[in-house]
Amino acid sequence: MVEMQQDENIPAKRKRKTEMAGVGCLIQTIGFVSLFFFPIGTFLGVILLIYGSMKSTYFTCSNCGNRLSDKNVKICSTCKASFS
Ligand SMILES: [Zn+2]
Repeated sequence: MVEMQQDENIPAKRKRKTEMAGVGCLIQTIGFVSLFFFPIGTFLGVILLIYGSMKSTYFTCSNCGNRLSDKNVKICSTCKASFS
């Protein structure tokens, strides 16, 4: 039996994931500590907290589980699945 290789239109979805450990978490921790150093630290802390949560959120391909470099990626670079 020959299996047909499907290269296009594999239905897949971007899965949103949050990283608990890593750079994003570290940035958020620093941001939180900075909040106590009023006023510059507070201002900086808010920015770091937002930036940290952006960094700790990433998307993966539901088909192969590959981590996507961008949430706007249309086609998975690993399994060529297209995201709707
Ligand atoms: Zn994939």
